[in-house]
Amino acid sequence: MDRQREQDMLDQARQRMLRNDLQGRDITDPDVLRVMMEVPREAFVPDGYHSQAYVDGPLPIGSGQTISQPYIVALMTQLLRLDRDCAVLEIGTGSGYQTAILARLAGKVYTIEKFEELSSGARQVLERLGIGNVEFRVGDGSAGWPEPRRFDRILLTAAAPDWPAPLLAQLVEGGVIVAPVGCGSTQALVAAEKVHGKLIERHVCGCRFVRLIGEHGFSQ
Ligand code: SAM
Repeated sequence: MDRQREQDMLDQARQRMLRNDLQGRDITDPDVLRVMMEVPREAFVPDGYHSQAYVDGPLPIGSGQTISQPYIVALMTQLLRLDRDCAVLEIGTGSGYQTAILARLAGKVYTIEKFEELSSGARQVLERLGIGNVEFRVGDGSAGWPEPRRFDRILLTAAAPDWPAPLLAQLVEGGVIVAPVGCGSTQALVAAEKVHGKLIERHVCGCRFVRLIGEHGFSQ
């Protein structure tokens, strides 16, 4: 298939995803819908998976990890209620797809990934797409950002057994944290706001994520 035809098919698949899997469910934030339409998911999946880039499911990205399904990426982004003044901490860069979506809506994104090869792959894709408001680190994100810093929003893209204490300490008063929380093979997607130092939690839905492996996550 020639390049132009392949690109046309991907563009149509992206529009279908927007209509059926996002608008057709509960994604209503126009800014989230706009960036989900703008960011090419095919740029974040391995070559052999391009034709599946807009199927609403996770796909392998190497290192035994997956790129999250588009609906969950959109839902978590919507729950964060981002604006251009927000500094966002993301734990679990993975392919960088969610990072790119966040970066299009927030002022600055700080993202940590356990695997060096995923972090450097994500950095290259974001550079190619001209997305510059992102700082990358390799390490254990369950322990928080390595330099002293506070964040308006925090997103975990891997499941935690409970809220990691270092992350709560780095969340500003009035800030929002979103994470899959739970010890089973499925977890609860939870959105919480920090009010007077305490979290006001809302269970959004069930979900299935890989585990957050680290000092304040799972041991394996
Ligand atoms: N949102 C990503 C995307 O769009 O490609 C997918 C994230 S994937 C579901 C979860 C990621 O969390 C994996 O890349 C995994 O290596 C990473 N991870 C797991 N434990 C971690 C930790 N303690 N610190 C940083 N990253 C971690």
